[in-house]
Amino acid sequence: MSSAPLSPVYGVLQNASMVDFPGKLAAVFFLTGCNFKCGFCHNAALMGRVDAAGLPWTEVEQISRKFRDNWVEGAVVTGGEPTLNPGVFQVVEKLREWGFAIKLDTNGSRPRILEKLLPQVDYVAMDVKFAPADYPARAGFADVAALTESIRLIREQAKAYEFRTTVIEAWHDADAMRAIGEWVRGAKLHVLQAFVPRPELPDPACRDMPETRAETLHAYADLLRPYVDRVEIRGEF
Ligand code: SF4
Repeated sequence: MSSAPLSPVYGVLQNASMVDFPGKLAAVFFLTGCNFKCGFCHNAALMGRVDAAGLPWTEVEQISRKFRDNWVEGAVVTGGEPTLNPGVFQVVEKLREWGFAIKLDTNGSRPRILEKLLPQVDYVAMDVKFAPADYPARAGFADVAALTESIRLIREQAKAYEFRTTVIEAWHDADAMRAIGEWVRGAKLHVLQAFVPRPELPDPACRDMPETRAETLHAYADLLRPYVDRVEIRGEF
């Protein structure tokens, strides 16, 4: 059995991504564990224990150097929720050392960790999944004040950032979108994404929900525009 030190990196996307880091070709590194319980989670396999064994550091370095040799400039640190894992600092440090620009994906639940990471990362994407009042029921997370604090920190301190919402028509109505707009008011960029059902989603009700229509995304983008500098729609339209 190998005794090589293990990293907190549970997996790396095999191919570089052109869609996960705005403006950069990026390698995507996954950390395990999440403190939310979203029924529509596409990474449900990563929601388990934070301390699940990761890949050996030697392997993470080897993969990283191969990406760098192939002109991949960006590294996305994602999950799960990467700020739950105490090893996230070392992951960011190593990836920077190997020459990557860093993007952090977060659900915003750990503002004190986020605050320490912000100087080290080049781009932050925080999910603003629902209106504040809907978080306990829809995400199983009730500390809305922590999310508010993360929104503030990102707006004030991130080098570049986006807030993003995956729109589920059964759950996001116009009032919910206005409440989200109020919450992120003054932000530089808010991204709306289409929900796409899949058979393996954790909540059976989500598996049969329809894909978000383009006209809904455009209508909600219009609703959000008065609150933020720019709204972008991402999806297959
Ligand atoms: S916050 Fe993200 S990773 Fe965690 S359960 Fe929700 S969708 Fe999944």
